[in-house]
Amino acid sequence: MEIPHLPSPILLVTDDSTESLTIGASLRAEDPALELRLISSESDFLLYLETGALALVITDARTNWTDGLSVLRAVKIRYPHCPVIVRADIDDEEILEEAIRAGAEDCLLKSPRHVLRLPALVRAVQERIKQQQTWREAERHSHDLFQYSEGLICTHDLDGVLLSVNPAGARLLGYSVDELIGRNLAEFVAPVVRHRFGHYLALIRQEPHIRGFLHVITNTGEERILAYHNVRREGGDRPPYILGHAQDVTELKRAEAQLHTYAQQQQRQADELEQRVAERTTELQESRRLTSQAADRLALLHTIDQAILAEQPLVTILQEALPRVRSLVSCLRVGVVQFDFDTQEAMLLAVESSTTTLLPTGIRGPLMALRPHSMNLAAFQQGHPYEVVDLDTLTDLPFALLTVRAEGIRSLLSLPLIAGGELFGSLNLGKAEPQAFTAMDKAIGQEIANQLAIAFQQDRNRTAHQQAEAQLQEEAEVKAALAHVGEELMASLDTPTILERLCQLTIDVLRCEQGSTVIWRPEKQAYVVAATAGHTQEVDRMLRSLTFPEEMVPHLITRLKEEDVVEVAIDEPQNFLPHSLFSLTGARSSLYIALRRGTDLLGCQTATYRTHQRFHTTQKRIAQGLAHLASLTLANARLVEDLEYANRLKDDFVNTMSHELRTPLHIIMGYTDILIDGLYGEPSGDQLNALQRISLSTRELIDLVNNVLDLDRLRKRQLSLTPQTLGVESWLADLQTSLLDLHRHPTVHLQWETAPALPVLVTDPEKLKIVLKNLISNALKFTEAGTVTVITQPEGTGIEFCVKDTGIGIAQEHLALIFEPFRQVDSSTTQIHAGVGLGLHIVRQLVDLLGGRVAVESTLGMGSTFRVWIPQHHPARP
Ligand code: ADP
Repeated sequence: MEIPHLPSPILLVTDDSTESLTIGASLRAEDPALELRLISSESDFLLYLETGALALVITDARTNWTDGLSVLRAVKIRYPHCPVIVRADIDDEEILEEAIRAGAEDCLLKSPRHVLRLPALVRAVQERIKQQQTWREAERHSHDLFQYSEGLICTHDLDGVLLSVNPAGARLLGYSVDELIGRNLAEFVAPVVRHRFGHYLALIRQEPHIRGFLHVITNTGEERILAYHNVRREGGDRPPYILGHAQDVTELKRAEAQLHTYAQQQQRQADELEQRVAERTTELQESRRLTSQAADRLALLHTIDQAILAEQPLVTILQEALPRVRSLVSCLRVGVVQFDFDTQEAMLLAVESSTTTLLPTGIRGPLMALRPHSMNLAAFQQGHPYEVVDLDTLTDLPFALLTVRAEGIRSLLSLPLIAGGELFGSLNLGKAEPQAFTAMDKAIGQEIANQLAIAFQQDRNRTAHQQAEAQLQEEAEVKAALAHVGEELMASLDTPTILERLCQLTIDVLRCEQGSTVIWRPEKQAYVVAATAGHTQEVDRMLRSLTFPEEMVPHLITRLKEEDVVEVAIDEPQNFLPHSLFSLTGARSSLYIALRRGTDLLGCQTATYRTHQRFHTTQKRIAQGLAHLASLTLANARLVEDLEYANRLKDDFVNTMSHELRTPLHIIMGYTDILIDGLYGEPSGDQLNALQRISLSTRELIDLVNNVLDLDRLRKRQLSLTPQTLGVESWLADLQTSLLDLHRHPTVHLQWETAPALPVLVTDPEKLKIVLKNLISNALKFTEAGTVTVITQPEGTGIEFCVKDTGIGIAQEHLALIFEPFRQVDSSTTQIHAGVGLGLHIVRQLVDLLGGRVAVESTLGMGSTFRVWIPQHHPARP
């Protein structure tokens, strides 16, 4: 171990130089590095004292320039901690005592033996000084601590009586240091914990130190919390005491308490939060589930909607929808049943099941068999769903429900499919557990049911529409066929022609293979074939040669008398026709269409297939119409034939009569003229008047008779044409002369306007004269006052004669009629103007014959204009 150095430098104050060497040797033996300064004069001493370079002073008690005490004092004044050792002779004991009191560290007797002890002494002093230094240091520390510590530092005895307290501690309690000394610490302990103070005192007596918290009440009554660490001190000359050190941790504690409360609160909030989060999470999961369910549901409704709009077939819509409904409502089985209230039947239109089912799509049965008796159909019809919460509680399960129960279904929800107030069927959902349908399931199910009901409604409407369309088409087909038949048949009034056409038309419009027209011939007392179609010439000939007495086909005749159309097939048991009839023509399936006149059966038209093909309704309807049309046409033809016959009789009669009348009338006219001319004597005024009337009427009668004869000839085309080259002007002059004796009102002026240089006409002048005479006489007849103008002018390749009057005019609607024979606009005018309505008819016939044309324009009350155009050259007639 290394020996520590001695304090250095050491001042050695002495007069004895010999001794100083001994001392130096002895000390350097202890520490060779030691610096030793020998002070032998006051000036040296003062110099060294000034420099301060001194660690220890060894001084003699007496020197010739000073004494030890003075040195001691001088040193201690300047350097109180610098140790001083005083050497004295044995007789200087007083000085030594004095020196000790004055602060010398040690004393040493002057003797060689003691010189030897000096190093040890110096070391002891050195040790002591060091110790003292340490103590001083510690004391300073503890003093500083005591004085300046922010905490409470105190001492108290074992009973708690305060012995000392630091200023900060006193401040903490709100007192001065003096006020506290001598008081028991217990007084300052907070009353609530004061009982624990005794326990503390007992404990500190046993334990060397304890820690804890002390609640104290300050002078201002405030409670503060101190954290203490107290130590029991014993030994030495003092009775045992307690050294206490405490820190004010009130704020800390409060903060801690607050922190604790806060932490607790936080924890509580965190717990609450956690709880809420958990709840929200559940809610969120539920709502997410609902949202996704709602999305699925919307998507499904949209799909159904689109399918409806796209007019997809009902079954396709159902087949697509049901699997999605099943997953949406999570059930084992979904089915859609259609109700038919007319037949009281129900049919399973579509089904979606988790297992193979004994109730598959397409199964049908009575409505009653598919639903339990407990089901209230009326309520269902009004839109109330039917629910079976547990199939096991029902005793009257019908077959359908027994089956689904066997497939594992316990609860059942049946939702009505209602659209437009009409119940179409039900949407049935089945689940495995009893009471399994939630309100949400029901809502979703009903929503889908409503949408599906619209699909049902649309399907029904579509079917109805298609049926109506088909009906309409059939109607149109029938109408078109009959219109065609009507048009064709009406085009002729000749019975044999009609019969031929009828036969061909029948197989055309019925689109069959063969037909024949059979007519009753009274003279033969049998039916004969009057026309055939679709047969070979040979068969045709053969058929036409046959006669069918009524007895041969009595059943057919009986039925035809009752029905318009009779269908007969060769292989039918009720076939009542002789087989030979079928084998002859090869027919297998036939329609017999009655031909009647009034109620009498005139015959029948047949329509046949050589195959077993049957006639469908449209064909039968056409046949029915055909029967009526043919009967009508035949009746018409017959009527016309009768009429023509009657007409011929009438014409013959009128002709004979006219011929017979003409001669006497001419005689009457001749004699009347002789009488008027006075060849038998001048007649009186009255006589002349009467004669003139007779003459006029006779002429009119002759005109009429001539007209009738002309007409007859025209009809019989017996009127021959004798065309001549004709100068129109001279011909007009002739015409004017012949009109002189025409009756006219005195107020009517007849004027002629003839264009110059008219071309020469090649035509029949007599016929043309009749035409013009008729028109002019009509114009004069129907004009009370005003003018009748005859205008002649070239027009195109001919000449136009225009007869214009300012008379009564003709209503627009009558213009088309006046050229018809025996047509007069109204009888009242005829009564006034005489005539029978043949004039214009003859005009037209004649103009026609001359290759010209006639036209009329007229305004009622204003007058009429008749234009006759005659070609320059008479066309060659065939
Ligand atoms: P009718 O012998 O009766 O004159 P018509 O054939 O000559 O027979 O004429 C037919 C009908 O046309 C007449 O009855 C008359 O009503 C009408 N009619 C003909 N010409 C004229 C005319 N110029 N003005 C008015 N009505 C006329």
